[in-house]
Order: sequence, then C-alpha cells, then structure tokens
Amino acid sequence: MSLFPSVIFFCLGFLISFIFPRLPIILITRVKGFNIAFPAHPEPIPLSPKLTQRVLHMRMIYWMGFVVATIPLLFGLASIKWGNAAFGFGLWISSGWFILSRMQTFVGGPKPPWTLEMAQRLQLVLDEAKSESACCNKPRPEWKMLFISCDQCGKVLDEMPRPDLGRKRKDGFFAGGFRLLLTDGYPVIDNDSADFGEIDDSEE
Ligand SMILES: [Zn+2]
Repeated sequence: MSLFPSVIFFCLGFLISFIFPRLPIILITRVKGFNIAFPAHPEPIPLSPKLTQRVLHMRMIYWMGFVVATIPLLFGLASIKWGNAAFGFGLWISSGWFILSRMQTFVGGPKPPWTLEMAQRLQLVLDEAKSESACCNKPRPEWKMLFISCDQCGKVLDEMPRPDLGRKRKDGFFAGGFRLLLTDGYPVIDNDSADFGEIDDSEE
C-alpha cells in the first residue's frame, strides 16, 4: 500500500514545479507601482515608449522563468537521489517539461507571448502616427484586445492581438493568476485563426 503516498508526493512535486517558474510573471508584474502609467485591465492601452518598454520587460521576465525553472530541476534531482524519490521525480518531470517547451522556440516552435518584434511593431505604429502619413490629424493609437487602432478615427493600424501586459487583472488575483497559468500570457483570442487581414479576391 505504498503506492498511494507516492502518487501524492509525485503530484505535489509536479504542481510545485509547474507553478514555480511562472511565479515571476504572476507576482512581480502585478505589484501596484509597476502599473501606474497604464489604464486598468482590460481597458485599451495608449501606445507610448512606456508600453514598448513594458513589452520588453515582460519578455525579460518570461525568459527569467527559464532560469527559475532550474531550481526545482536541481531540487528534483537531489530529492531523487537523497530524499523522497516520487516527490523529486514530480519536480523533475514538470520543470524539465517547462524548459523543453520553452526551448521549442529555438527550433521553430511557437513564439513567446512577448517578443522583440512585438516591441518593434509598436514603435513602428508610434512613428507612423507622428509622421505625415498618419491616419488622421490627431492620431491616438491604442492597443485593444485584438488589434491596435486609432482612438480618434477608428482605423486599424496593426492586427496584433494584445498579450497579458502585467496589469492587475480585473478578475482578481486568484482567478487572474489561474488564467495566466493556463494561457501563459498569450492573447486569449488569436487573430491568425480569423485571418481577416488577407482576403483572397479570386472570385472577382
Ligand atoms: Zn486616426
């Protein structure tokens, strides 16, 4: 009858190292002082250098999870060798999985929710709004849930869905944190599935 506690220890280890590397994104970024410059979630965010910087911060914290994940990985190995093997195995499997899935990015897997390219696109839209080819007289580009559009004239400026940006979520710390664990910061709805950017006019 020793299987039952082993399963519990395994699950416990698995759960701990599932949550652990994701904590930086859930905890660090929800601090009050971190979000003064932005309207409350889920309001659209006006584009600004601050927002571009935020995307870069989120990207940095995302990759920090990589380093953080090595802690339960090492603890897991130590626990397999000297401590509770089931617990250690749970820790080890879960954090190993986390590291492997993040490494997929380098071999053509899904991109991280926050990328350098994203920050550059934000900057491009900002530059465009200040240039002569702006959409209207007083452009006010805002990042909505699914795209960036001008608050003045309503023109869609970039079809880039908005990922989580570290603001305190309106659904509260626990529900919001849980949702983040599930979505990993990615936008909940992806534009690619409803590709309205390029419509094929072959019927004409
Ligand atoms: Zn406009």
